[in-house]
Amino acid sequence: MGTGSRRWFATGLSSIAGMAACPHLGRAQPDPEDASQLEQWLATPAEILAKIEVAEEEVEAISRRLVECLLEFHHLTESNLIYRGERMTYLRMIVSRLATLLTSSPYYQFIRLRGIDIAEPLVCAFPNGVLLVSFGLIDASASQNALAGVLAHELAHLEAGDLLNIPRALVHHGVDYHCLPRTAWLEILHRPFTAQQEVAADSRVREWLVRSGWSSSEYAQYLNRREEEHAFAVRWFRHHTVPGLFWYEGKHRIDARRLETLTQRIARSP
Ligand SMILES: [Zn+2]
Repeated sequence: MGTGSRRWFATGLSSIAGMAACPHLGRAQPDPEDASQLEQWLATPAEILAKIEVAEEEVEAISRRLVECLLEFHHLTESNLIYRGERMTYLRMIVSRLATLLTSSPYYQFIRLRGIDIAEPLVCAFPNGVLLVSFGLIDASASQNALAGVLAHELAHLEAGDLLNIPRALVHHGVDYHCLPRTAWLEILHRPFTAQQEVAADSRVREWLVRSGWSSSEYAQYLNRREEEHAFAVRWFRHHTVPGLFWYEGKHRIDARRLETLTQRIARSP
């Protein structure tokens, strides 16, 4: 991760002290002196979180706040969300084919696709089934196979419950999320998935692509290309604060092991 991103990370944590002034009593209040608390909540083991039941309204409220903060991070608001048009029709065609392979969730009936017109390649799923995709992602994908792979990857995190773990962790620790500052939400959004979660998502991607008639090898090529360009970008932007550039890269870390595992699975596929 680049220097700029780390600086932004540190600023986010120190601002969590703002939680002390929360007027919503009745839930456990975070200790403003302990900046590592958010990290501890989110690090709750997945097997504990899997048993936590969260009300649908809470998942919706938390997801809305996450979407809002991600948009704000890109200097956008809800009024910038795109629902229609040629590019949305194209994205919807791919997402609806993939969505038929997802098992149903008690927290959303269907995937709610939203577009944003920014050059940065970005896709982000939220616990309530919202999938936010930038038009820059379409431009960065060399083919429909590659684009379907990237969209499937995000949906695979959703299916695995990796995103639902955010509301589960907040509810499990009795956090009054109404009072979390914007920086804490950005911190939550920016928190990387684990290497294990990435490998599991890639495995699901390969299975889904094969089942829906897309090639999975182009997805691996896309990741390789992203890895190369990211390495270039890190060198170029070193010592500058360009958090947006690192957002997606920091969250879904690509490492040699992940690419190797994926490539081996593709080689073994029918
Ligand atoms: Zn990922």
